[in-house]
Amino acid sequence: MISVIAPIYNEGPGVDRFVERLGEVLGAASLDYELVLVDDGSADDSWSRISRQALVDPRVRGLRLSRNFGKEAALLAGLDHAAGDAVVIIDSDLQHPPSAIPAMVRRWQDGAQVVEAVKRNRTGQRLGNRLGSRLFNRTFTRFTGVDLVDATDFRLLGRPAVDALRRMPEHSSFFRGTSSWIGFTRATVEIDIDHREGGASRWTVRGLCRLAVNGLTSFTSAPLHMVTLAGFGFAVFAVVLGIQTLVRWMSGGSVAGFTTVILLLLVTGTFVLIGLGVIGEYLARIHEEVRGRPRYLLQERAESTVPERWVVE
Ligand code: UDP
Ligand code: MG
Repeated sequence: MISVIAPIYNEGPGVDRFVERLGEVLGAASLDYELVLVDDGSADDSWSRISRQALVDPRVRGLRLSRNFGKEAALLAGLDHAAGDAVVIIDSDLQHPPSAIPAMVRRWQDGAQVVEAVKRNRTGQRLGNRLGSRLFNRTFTRFTGVDLVDATDFRLLGRPAVDALRRMPEHSSFFRGTSSWIGFTRATVEIDIDHREGGASRWTVRGLCRLAVNGLTSFTSAPLHMVTLAGFGFAVFAVVLGIQTLVRWMSGGSVAGFTTVILLLLVTGTFVLIGLGVIGEYLARIHEEVRGRPRYLLQERAESTVPERWVVE
């Protein structure tokens, strides 16, 4: 059986459209599936739509987080409650074409444990997003060796891969990165990113920056090393400049060093601040982990048939 997990945040009528579309595609491919809809603390009528869908269709199951925990946490909640032999993770705004799922399932049946959908075109994305995500993916790939170029969150995971992901303890997880990190036999399927059906992107610029910083800091200490390196570079620079100043002074040179002083102050000041900032980022992460709070809290479930493993819980 295949579990399809979709995070939902204020999608409104998009929920019904998504469930219908998915039913069509998976029905046509005669796949045995369950659909786990995770309401990430929506403020609109998304939850009532989800619970209605769950009532009329035993294959649809709803989870409601107690507030907006973010897409990553919603996905984790979905993974924890999915019963399938394979799990497909897909956006609920129909930007990820459900029609690619049968192809992904075939790859899985051929032995792949992780099937990633990679972007063939990005016409459905705004230029700013496109450039931003490309820049980020390139940087990430370079620093961490985990290849993210053209990657999406749309992917299929076999049961062993799902269990491996669920065993990862970190809080500020970066799903795209961790699901690469775990390894396993991989395959890819090409998709076209569609335009969003209804509503605008749920991400704010701030949210995206947070995700980028989380992703980088959870995968590499390169920024820390870079600060140390810059520190050494400046030490060398300072020694050279110091010697030069001394020589000038001994040969009776002038006090005309005003510009140098200002420049040095500015440059060192900047680097000290950047360094502190980078250290702060890692410290914040350690703080997060040490607190050990749960990644998400469930408020409600909606399903017409309760699977056995939920009852055991
Ligand atoms: N989403 C979520 N919680 C959030 C933000 C987004 O569950 O805090 C869901 C959203 O409903 C959608 C998916 O994550 O199904 C992708 O969001 P969006 O389409 O806004 O992102 P984009 O396509 O712009 O990357
Ligand atoms: Mg989208």
